[in-house]
Amino acid sequence: MKQDFEELYPLSKKLSRFTGEAIRDYNMIRPDDSILIGLSGGKDSLLLALALAILKKRSPVRFSLRACLIDQSNGAMEPERLAEYMAALGIPLTIVKHPTYQIMKEREERSPCSLCANMRRGILANQAKELACGVIALGHHKDDAAETVLMNLFYGGRFKCFHPHLYMSRTRMRVIRPFVYIEERQIRLEAERLSLPVISSCCPYGDKSKRKSTKEIVAALEREMPELKSNIVHALRHLKENESWPAGMLNE
Ligand code: SF4
Repeated sequence: MKQDFEELYPLSKKLSRFTGEAIRDYNMIRPDDSILIGLSGGKDSLLLALALAILKKRSPVRFSLRACLIDQSNGAMEPERLAEYMAALGIPLTIVKHPTYQIMKEREERSPCSLCANMRRGILANQAKELACGVIALGHHKDDAAETVLMNLFYGGRFKCFHPHLYMSRTRMRVIRPFVYIEERQIRLEAERLSLPVISSCCPYGDKSKRKSTKEIVAALEREMPELKSNIVHALRHLKENESWPAGMLNE
């Protein structure tokens, strides 16, 4: 008999609760939403797929799930185990190959991460459109939020962060980040405990990125201010809602 995916991958109650709280606080999922999960192959998005698959099974709100894996590895990625995992969760998977690193090398890009993020956003938005999905779910967590705020401040000279629930007026899609209350450390431990089929990053820029140095700064600041990340995420709630939201739509 086929084993239920919740028996194979029993998500911790704590992470399930934090995910549910973020979804509720930001009204992230609405009846009949078609959600496309953006997968990189890393721990964050794989765990997000599990959390959303469990929610879909239990929630009285009906919504559908799909996933898109962006393979930037130029043939180095072996997604077979990941594809089996998504099949076990009952989430249809599309794999899109994209020569991101090659493009960045040819352009001798000085800000590879921001170009990379832009390209991934474009690929996901196109896929969502093709698959008739109006919502994109991303695995960004509490650490990502804190690092993004500080990176924009330190390197870009502006106060800016992603919103946990964003409306993109150009594509008329919503982007949700249900892990915004969860720390990266918790995700890493959970992904290891559940033996998720994580694919290691083969990004040649990973170690040199501004995000990596910001991560180190956050870790140092946290020794003095253990509430740093929580305070930044809390501040997001009081940011003026993303200006591209039609009035009142966030709380519809
Ligand atoms: S570290 Fe690599 S994969 Fe991550 S955003 Fe930067 S360029 Fe892209």
